[in-house]
Amino acid sequence: MGNNSCLRNQRSPVRIRPGACNLETSLLTVGPTVGPSAPAGRPSTSPHRQYHRDYQRQWIADRRQEWIDAHGPCACGSTDGLEVDHIDPEQKAMEVSAIWSRRAEVRAVELDKCQVLCRPCHEKKTFKDRHVPRQHGTVRMYKRGKCRCAECRQANTDYRRQLKINSGVLVGPRRKHV
Ligand SMILES: [Zn+2]
Ligand SMILES: [Zn+2]
Repeated sequence: MGNNSCLRNQRSPVRIRPGACNLETSLLTVGPTVGPSAPAGRPSTSPHRQYHRDYQRQWIADRRQEWIDAHGPCACGSTDGLEVDHIDPEQKAMEVSAIWSRRAEVRAVELDKCQVLCRPCHEKKTFKDRHVPRQHGTVRMYKRGKCRCAECRQANTDYRRQLKINSGVLVGPRRKHV
């Protein structure tokens, strides 16, 4: 349960959850070459693998579109070619393209820092982001400015910590030992 991978031995073709693999059912019509008796180690071009690649791609595209539909249009009013932008690039824990395949909690945290922009507005904003004057106490100053003042080191520590929380290594804010 709660697993999107296709288990060939799991025989419950009738119950299809949204987001679950329905390969079992879709291949029942293909014939006996695919099924429990199929030989192991099929080539990467097998319909099975191809199915999963397409399925995954579609699933990710749908999730992205769903979020964009719910958070658009662009502030300028455009509904054309909308894209996802990190409002404050300093807070970015992962690229937008990496968000969609992550688990719901991680997606929610990261998408909370994002907005929908049309391509021209996104390009303008990216240009501006790159030309923000450098400030102490920011990850940008630590990484690109190579500053190691106390504020910049703290910013980098906080950032790395957030990355760990997002990836599930840590579960919450550090508790002070009394
Ligand atoms: Zn726009
Ligand atoms: Zn500094």
